[in-house]
Parts: sequence; structure tokens; C-alpha cells
Amino acid sequence: MSVMEISHRSKDFEPILESAENGIRELLNVPENYRILFLQGGASLQFSMIPINFLKTSADYVITGAWGEKAVKEAKKCGNVNVIFSTKETNYKSVPEQDELNFSQNPDYIHYCSNETIDGVEFKYDLDGKGIPVICDASSNILSKEIDLEKYALIYAGAQKNIGPSGVTLVIIRDDLLEKVPANQFSMLDYRAIAKNDSMLNTPNTWGIYLISLVCEWLKNKGGVKAMQKINEEKAKILYDAIDSSDGFYSGHAEKEARSLMNVTFRLPNEDLEKQFVTEATANGFDGIKGHRSVGGIRASIYNAFPQEGCEALIEFMRDFTNKNG
Ligand code: PMP
Repeated sequence: MSVMEISHRSKDFEPILESAENGIRELLNVPENYRILFLQGGASLQFSMIPINFLKTSADYVITGAWGEKAVKEAKKCGNVNVIFSTKETNYKSVPEQDELNFSQNPDYIHYCSNETIDGVEFKYDLDGKGIPVICDASSNILSKEIDLEKYALIYAGAQKNIGPSGVTLVIIRDDLLEKVPANQFSMLDYRAIAKNDSMLNTPNTWGIYLISLVCEWLKNKGGVKAMQKINEEKAKILYDAIDSSDGFYSGHAEKEARSLMNVTFRLPNEDLEKQFVTEATANGFDGIKGHRSVGGIRASIYNAFPQEGCEALIEFMRDFTNKNG
């Protein structure tokens, strides 16, 4: 029988779950006092589940893009939210320095998104909560680079970018935060109960978890997250260099210091040219290059699985396009 046919309670599934968990633990250097959970409901359910469990008095939110904004919208349904920093007014092009962040008095936690997928801006450091629990949405950059996991009380990510197929959400949560889950929480929203049951309070996404175990093996064979970071830096540099040397034909959306290694966002001189670019790029085999519908422009998503040759081919196409239309 294949993994899709066996019971999640069977002896055969146990080593699969263990291998996925151990893979993540090894790759991200997750200390013993953290639990690794595989949930469902996407990263979007975490936008709600986090405040439902942990927002008691107030929480601090940093907004650097569209996903951070969505997280705030959900948190506000649960209680008092302080948006302590937002780059909305400047069109989500930058991220704050650590010392630009002034946390409020004793919030329950601080939430931020380490890589804004739509806008293409990324934090280059692990935010330091200075004693306040830090919660991070790392959906689109987890496993792409080294992080200091001990800076986080909870870090979460929808699997579908760098971890595995859609339908699984990875949550890494520190034991002391688990203890703050309210008694009598609805079971399926209860991190503590889920942890106690090894992510198997109900039927987990067994196939997704199996694929995560394989992705972890693949990453380990590549040399782990440190090696992947180097590859990702090289890939991103190829694209950003092409943008910077285009005499302004292409203009990067994000400020240089905040440029994402995963989502390279840029504009052309006008929307007609952008439409033409997308049509011709698609015809040349560059799929999914159109920027998110909410911001327009172009977005080249270059997650772990995307090869360097793809970036090289894209800049060749970009040069050609400039020669014809610049
Ligand atoms: N956060 C970020 C940073 C994302 O990129 C996404 C999805 N693209 C989400 C949250 C939402 O994830 P999901 O679709 O798994 O709910």
C-alpha cells in the first residue's frame, strides 16, 4: 500500500512523521524545547489561531506587506492590536531596522512576516523581542536561509513554497508558549492538544507530511539551509543585477536593503509594456511571472526548488525584451 492508503495511526506512518519532524529539526537547528507541528488550514488559519490563543491584553504587529495586513485584520477580531510599525504609506518597499521598532508596554506577543511574498521585501535579521514572545509568518522564506530559531516563540509557514505541497502548515512553537493556550480551547485550535497528540488530533495530511520528509532529505543532500542560502543569494543576484544594469528600464519595487531572495518584484516603464512582457515571457516558458493582482508589475518567484539556469534564462529574455522595446 502507498502512503495514501495506510492509516495515520499505523506503524508504517510513524517513521514518516518522525522523519519529517526530524528533517525540519535538523535543517533549522530546532532546540529540544520547541515542538514541530503539522497543521491544516494554511498560514491563513494561523492569522486567527495565534490571537485566539495568545492575544489576552494586546499584541504588537509590524506590517511590511499584504500578508502582515491580513494577519492584523484577523487579530483585531480577537482583541487589542497595536500596529507599531507599518510601511503601507510608502507602498511596502522596505522593512524597519530593529532599533526603529518601539514595542508597546508588555504586549502578549509581537507578530511580523519575515518575507512579504507579494511585495518582495524581506527582513535580513531575526527580530529580537527583548523578552516579548516573537511570532513570525515565514511562509515564503523558511528553509531558504539560516535563521536563529531561538529568537522565535512561534514560527509558522504554509508548506507550499519551500517545504512541500499545499495543505500542510508547519508550526514550530516553544514549550512556554504552549503553556499559555487557554484551558478549554476548541480542540482543533488548541496548539497544546495538537502537540500532545503529535499533530494527530485528527487525520493529518499524511501524503503532504511524507513529501515534507522527502524535501528535507533533498535539502540535506544539497548541503542544508546554509548551502541553500548561498545558492539563493546567487540566484537573486543574477536578477537584481539585471534590473540595476537596465538603465532604468526595469525598476525594482523593494528598496535595495529589503530585497527578497525569494520574490523579485519589479516594474517596467508602463503597464502596457508590463502586459506585453508577461505575454511574451509566458510564451517563452516563464510561467507565473505576473505580479500579484493587488500590486501589478512583475514578480519572479525563485523558491528553493527553482534552478539557477532559470534565472539566467530569464535575464536573457529581459535583455532581449529591452533591446526590442527599450
Ligand atoms: N503568509 C504569506 C507570507 C504567504 O505568502 C501566504 C500565501 N502565499 C500566506 C500567508 C497564506 O498562506 P495560505 O494560502 O497557506 O493560507
